[in-house]
Amino acid sequence: MVAEEADRFAIGRLDEYITSAAVGIRILLAGPQVDVQRASALALESGLVGEELILAVTSDRAKRVFCPHCKARTATLQGIGAIVPCSGCGRNLEIYHHFSRRTASYLGFMAGAEEPAGRTTPAGVGRILEAIR
Ligand SMILES: [Zn+2]
Repeated sequence: MVAEEADRFAIGRLDEYITSAAVGIRILLAGPQVDVQRASALALESGLVGEELILAVTSDRAKRVFCPHCKARTATLQGIGAIVPCSGCGRNLEIYHHFSRRTASYLGFMAGAEEPAGRTTPAGVGRILEAIR
């Protein structure tokens, strides 16, 4: 589980700090990748440039997955290629390796969406066979 409450507190403090900062500020963001990337996205959105940020990632296990269908971001500890249910719409999302610095999340796409209707892939056949056993 990702600590969303601690994250919101830290993001709020960072926003206050950036708002009152002078030109030439340097900020060190340290912690899990999911939090560092989110804080970095906020800092860049607030007008800082990349040279003003130093990123120190301590763990890359926790991730956020962006759902292109409902725009929700789902926190997960699953790896690239795993399937997670969207916290917004419930669709099963496969975690794609594309990472957006703007949304600080990995792109999710609906699992099985590339399979043409009416056709079933070998992997799909296996799932169907398991379901009817
Ligand atoms: Zn969704």
